[in-house]
Amino acid sequence: MEFGKWWVEDKEQKVRCKLCPHHCLISPGKSGICNVRKNNDGQLYSLVYGHPAALNVDPIEKKPLYHFYPGSRALSIGTVGCNLTCKFCQNWQLARGEFRKQRQAMSPEEIVKLARKKSCDSIAFTYNEPTIFGEYLLDISKIAHQQDIKTIMVTNGFITEEAVNDIYPNIDAANVDIKFFTDELYREYTGGRLQAILDAILAMQKHGTFIEITNLIIPELNDSPKEFKKFINWIKENLGEETPLHLSAFHPAYKMKDHPSTSKSQLDTLYEIAKEQGLKYIYEGNVRSDEHNNTYCPACGNLLIERSYFSVTKNNIKVGHCECGKGINVVDQH
Ligand code: SF4
Repeated sequence: MEFGKWWVEDKEQKVRCKLCPHHCLISPGKSGICNVRKNNDGQLYSLVYGHPAALNVDPIEKKPLYHFYPGSRALSIGTVGCNLTCKFCQNWQLARGEFRKQRQAMSPEEIVKLARKKSCDSIAFTYNEPTIFGEYLLDISKIAHQQDIKTIMVTNGFITEEAVNDIYPNIDAANVDIKFFTDELYREYTGGRLQAILDAILAMQKHGTFIEITNLIIPELNDSPKEFKKFINWIKENLGEETPLHLSAFHPAYKMKDHPSTSKSQLDTLYEIAKEQGLKYIYEGNVRSDEHNNTYCPACGNLLIERSYFSVTKNNIKVGHCECGKGINVVDQH
């Protein structure tokens, strides 16, 4: 158990957590909605600091990040717990906080040492919602940066501006999963709130974090062209038309085991809408899609990055440019 950041004292030894917009008021001996931030004698502690539950080396494409150091390796780390309660969660065993899944304790220094040993270019905070282990990832990130290792958040974006301002100056790239573009669906299916997430993304961007967006497409819920067009326009107007977008297929899971999967043709329809609306880099995930897994130059149409599943098989980008001269929104060491 580690003393927490982002909280204030309240009456009768209660504490108010300020890490995510739930702002949980937590009584002594109890935990917040995420299940991993506990009031111990009137003070807030993190139950997951130093306790990874999942730790693997992944291609960065698996996060998914397609425009940030393509072809590199990310040491990926997650704990248990989550601040949203998505009915369609694909990772619910971790998210719902089964503490027996925790591995041996590892300090931030040991995590960074492992990343170096495994020749990883970055450390990705992923699997469950990393915001809820903010203290741990912040300490890891500061040490990683001292050793020239990049840091990545794979996040639902449900975080307060105060916490963004503390954490994101230390984060190089983020994939933010915007799940719906109506507040009603957000509240009903995740317990989150749309506007808080959109505000947080803009706050992340102010700190120079490179952003890619994921949208899990769930048939009959968020596949309406009308809602989708609004979503695309928000991306264009706020993050820019060159923001990479990953359309991800839903497969039945957790409390939505009887809901139909997303078909390839449903993803293709939305892909075409996003393209017509002017987005330049759109990808399909969670489904076999060779043609929509590569990166093409938006100016001349040249193949820039060829991928096979999560492997980069060709990278024709030269110092951030296509051979036609168009600048490509890719962060790379090459
Ligand atoms: S991080 Fe956890 S404890 Fe804090 S406000 Fe969010 S859900 Fe509640």
